Amino acid sequence: MPTALPVLNDRFRPVERFAARPGRDYTLLPMRLISLDAGRHVLTNFAGEYVVLPKETTRRLVRHELDTASDVFEELLSRHFVSVGGSDAALDLLAVKYRTKQSLLAEFTSLFMFVVSLRCDHSCPYCQVSRQSLDRHAYDMKPDVADRAVDFMFRSPSRALKVEFQGGESLLNFPLIRRIVERVESRNLAEGRDVQFVIATNLAPLTDEMLDYCRVHEIVISTSLDGPRELHNQNRPRPGGDSHKLAVRGIRRVREALGHDSVAALMTTTAASLAQPREIVDEYVRQGFSCVFLRPLSPYGFAVKTGLARKYAADEWLEFYRAALGYIIELNLAGTPFREEYSSLILRKMLTPFPTGYVDLQSPAGLGIAGLIFNYDGDVYASDEARMLAETGDRKFRLGNLAVDSFEDVMTSDALIDVLSETMTEGVPMCVDCGFQPYCGSDPVYHHATQGDVVGFKPTSDFCRRNMGVMRHLVRLLEDDERAASVLETWI
Ligand code: SF4
Repeated sequence: MPTALPVLNDRFRPVERFAARPGRDYTLLPMRLISLDAGRHVLTNFAGEYVVLPKETTRRLVRHELDTASDVFEELLSRHFVSVGGSDAALDLLAVKYRTKQSLLAEFTSLFMFVVSLRCDHSCPYCQVSRQSLDRHAYDMKPDVADRAVDFMFRSPSRALKVEFQGGESLLNFPLIRRIVERVESRNLAEGRDVQFVIATNLAPLTDEMLDYCRVHEIVISTSLDGPRELHNQNRPRPGGDSHKLAVRGIRRVREALGHDSVAALMTTTAASLAQPREIVDEYVRQGFSCVFLRPLSPYGFAVKTGLARKYAADEWLEFYRAALGYIIELNLAGTPFREEYSSLILRKMLTPFPTGYVDLQSPAGLGIAGLIFNYDGDVYASDEARMLAETGDRKFRLGNLAVDSFEDVMTSDALIDVLSETMTEGVPMCVDCGFQPYCGSDPVYHHATQGDVVGFKPTSDFCRRNMGVMRHLVRLLEDDERAASVLETWI
């Protein structure tokens, strides 16, 4: 019979074609690897899918010595680490997955932080900005600056806009918050964007009138809770020493007025927190939260420069993180659903095809293209950390001022573009080969502040050491601890 249909010939290959043969008949697709422990590697592809292989198997894989009929080969094939038959289909699929992972880039800048006042009633030793006393109104954002900031924000092409009010203590300039909210709402009647408002506050100045306003305008609250009473009061002193009482009372009032999920809390790990992983988690459970974000102290900025906050080593934080995570997993296994949010973000990157939008774990970095911050004086910074760094006199990441610079000026400035392109983890030393690259980020502000270089020298970078430690720990739990894995998989 003539073989007239090449397509059929192509599709129905001879049976020997599928026979098991230790062969070289496969192509390696782009991948990176990193040691998980003495005997195993973690391999990741461009889309962030991972496999864990014995090191000897990795060697055979890269030497084209793997048996193409083996289970491990099947797994590598299904996860796009190898392709067979010279087809581009696997590469095309990988490209689609990579595009999905990077899809937030198309949305561009969506988070805009307004520093409405630098005044604050707290004097937290770890505060990264040089907060001002309550009577220094010169450090409030002026209405004309706020109006320019709103106009600037609407130049962003993003369909979703998140407006976050920051301080100092933002509620001390509540009249300006109202002005901004109403200006945004009125402007949005024509724009039709998906707008969300968040007030970051220590809750101490909260009044019923403010709560009513938040309810009417669907504003949610982000606050700080560092742990149990003694630790919180030690970390966040204020006149009267009752910051914990005010925070807990404020959380309860917000929930009563706006609903349970309308308030989120963030903690900062200080040197004093390191010995209290369980107590901090217990406090979050006691206050009715379903998660905690174990956030390390930024080891730069005003507080560290002035010696008010003690730095600690990345390994000290990792020990604290592992202890807290272990305890959280125990709580889940005992029937209390509760998440650790930094782990959840990384697990989503490891186990799903979707992006997270978390600015510190992005390449290109989230600076400017994910969020921008308007300081009280109209200066525009690439991130909140960039503003904090400026408090020490280092204005490297100041992108312009609302009085003279347009959205286009700022977003196309060399100060922004150069940093973003120079620091992409896909191409910088060490990250370029690192198996955890698809889950990690570049954090140029951190590396500039701690090492004097936006790329950073990763072998001595605490950012790198911390992330590597977290990622190794999570992969080990997923691979070696079935009970822990059953909990972690519910967090994505
Ligand atoms: S910073 Fe470290 S952990 Fe992250 S991708 Fe680079 S080398 Fe890997």
